[in-house]
Amino acid sequence: MSVINGVERYPSLGLKVVVVGAGVGGLMAALECWRKGCDVIVLERANEISVLGNLTSKRPESHRDDSNFTPGDYFTIPPSGVTTLKYYPTMHADYHKDVYDCSISIWRPNGTCVKRTFPEWVREGRENTAAPDVKISFIKRRPVYTNMLLDQCVRLGIPVHFGQKADKVTESDSGVVIETKTGEKYEADVCLSGDGIGSGFTPDICNAPVLESGYAAARAAFPRDVIKKGSPAEELLKTVDEQPEFRTYLGDDLHLILFLTKDWSDGNAAESWHNLRDPEVCIKQLYEKADNWDPAVIDFFQQIPEKIVDWGLRWRDPVEQWTSNGGRIAKLGDAAHAFLPTAGNGAVQACEDAVTIGECLRLGGKENAPWATKVYNKLRFQRTSILQQSGFINREELHHADLNAIEANPDVKDIGFFKGGKWVWAHNPETYATEKYDECLSHLQKGTPFVNTNLPPGHMYNPWTMASENERMAAQLPSNLKTNGYWGV
Ligand SMILES: Cc1cc2nc3c(=O)[nH]c(=O)nc-3n(C[C@H](O)[C@H](O)[C@H](O)COP(=O)(O)OP(=O)(O)OC[C@H]3O[C@@H](n4cnc5c(N)ncnc54)[C@H](O)[C@@H]3O)c2cc1C
Repeated sequence: MSVINGVERYPSLGLKVVVVGAGVGGLMAALECWRKGCDVIVLERANEISVLGNLTSKRPESHRDDSNFTPGDYFTIPPSGVTTLKYYPTMHADYHKDVYDCSISIWRPNGTCVKRTFPEWVREGRENTAAPDVKISFIKRRPVYTNMLLDQCVRLGIPVHFGQKADKVTESDSGVVIETKTGEKYEADVCLSGDGIGSGFTPDICNAPVLESGYAAARAAFPRDVIKKGSPAEELLKTVDEQPEFRTYLGDDLHLILFLTKDWSDGNAAESWHNLRDPEVCIKQLYEKADNWDPAVIDFFQQIPEKIVDWGLRWRDPVEQWTSNGGRIAKLGDAAHAFLPTAGNGAVQACEDAVTIGECLRLGGKENAPWATKVYNKLRFQRTSILQQSGFINREELHHADLNAIEANPDVKDIGFFKGGKWVWAHNPETYATEKYDECLSHLQKGTPFVNTNLPPGHMYNPWTMASENERMAAQLPSNLKTNGYWGV
């Protein structure tokens, strides 16, 4: 093993990987493949990691165009996404510069708290999670997290080329050639495509029509100093220094999340949104769903500086094959599996993908790299598909919650993304890949039996589509997803 910046690197595999996309999935894959002995290059079409996530310098014409950027200024990365953080001491320290336990709570529109708790993995104790060494921050600012990954790539000497839009990839028996829009060519043994949803790169792989989910997310993030002293909205911030909060207000067919934190007060609000929707429009929509909103919440909306990101939630059905037939091109992250934000799992599953592909490539080596990507795909598909589906169920549970029942029994009545299950956050994707690789390879090559065990214990996997979910919801049939296997802690 060699050691750079405190990171122990496995012996060189002589295997070259080009990662397309410097999102959380692509950068994490770059780090993990490097650590496992691959030579790695990253190509990113944007000119830099944006303060808003992965926004390119060109703003979209309309909020329906999701091909240019990923919104969501904050995301949650539970323990299964940070199992390998410990192998990068500087990054491990960087992560811990800014962490706090955040309470999660359910509120009525009128400002009554129905239930307050902490995330399952906090309640159950860090030692029982997949990353006992990490003090998980419930929410991280996306650009902070992505830049943390980028900084680690730079420290390790992994080239990240910005302004390089991958346009085409050609696969042969011996490797791949990736061509960029500006005509550069990169040769590699494997291309990992972490290009997010709707990029258009590799149109023949893992592609299903983009569908409207029928819902939209409106998001804004801004420093707390924006809220005027003495205003009703300031009431919402009064305990934020001692206890950051993730509040979910539940209305009929709507949920509103206020994430109230202390970690952003630099006054630079201009970075935090793009001009898409007036806060007044959102207020009107809130009143369409409930007429008794807490005045502090409405005042909070009124003080949102400028406009709000309006993000039409689009969707692709689960696609089982994430690799080219030849196995030298593999998708990861959102490019392989689209998530609704209500799944709370897109970024963490992208990280799990990254860790898994790194370990599979190490085990397969240069010779068997095309098999390694197929093993990776097999190990990951069912787990991500179930979590994708949970986005629909979580939304349904939140939008049609029986608040009286929760209030009467707050200890047992977990709903939506409050109820994830130990199978999600106690999973270690690296160990899983190590343990399952040979068995899965034998299954793929010889047809021997193989069963994934990174699912809820006892779960019987059922294929599904957005259409089947919509049909079920239209018929007002309850989902059995969270009773299929054990989803408890
Ligand atoms: C509103 C909202 C809230 C969310 N909240 C959460 C949450 O709380 N928890 C969670 O886990 N997930 C959450 N998600 C989901 C999460 O943001 C995504 O799943 C995650 O960002 C996926 O990462 P990725 O690296 O796969 O893709 P992306 O972050 O989309 O990155 C793709 C990258 O590829 C680049 N790219 C695209 N095409 C090319 C090309 N041809 N050549 C070169 N580069 C290219 C893009 O510019 C981009 O940098 C949320 C999503 C939304 C919309």
